[in-house]
Amino acid sequence: MATDCVFCKIVSGEIKTELVHQDGDVVAFRDIHPRAPVHVLVVPRDHVPGVAEVPGGHSLIGHMVAVANLLAKQEKVAGSGYRLVVNQGPDSGQEVRHLHMHLLGGKRLGPMG
Ligand code: AMP
Ligand code: ZN
Repeated sequence: MATDCVFCKIVSGEIKTELVHQDGDVVAFRDIHPRAPVHVLVVPRDHVPGVAEVPGGHSLIGHMVAVANLLAKQEKVAGSGYRLVVNQGPDSGQEVRHLHMHLLGGKRLGPMG
């Protein structure tokens, strides 16, 4: 755990947030500043700073995608469509240096850019 990391504090329970999913490897909760009607973050329990630090061939990203797909069904956007986003580094606008996957849906999402 990184002591100054907001997502580590959510994983440990130090910051209270309703979890919409939890298992041995990841937790998921609603983004505090939602950019869409459905905006959930899927976050590994371990402190990994970003996708660049995930070793090649590691199963973590696959598990995060599986959980996001499950949550898309749970949030009833599986049929209408959704977007999974992982930001990495300054040009992406990554704010929190603890790996997370955004699940966005529930409206027509704008173009990527
Ligand atoms: P990123 O720009 O990819 O690093 O996204 C970080 C996301 O974390 C942003 O969309 C923030 O709104 C969200 N966020 C930051 N702090 C919290 C928090 N305490 N609970 C829920 N979401 C948060
Ligand atoms: Zn962390």
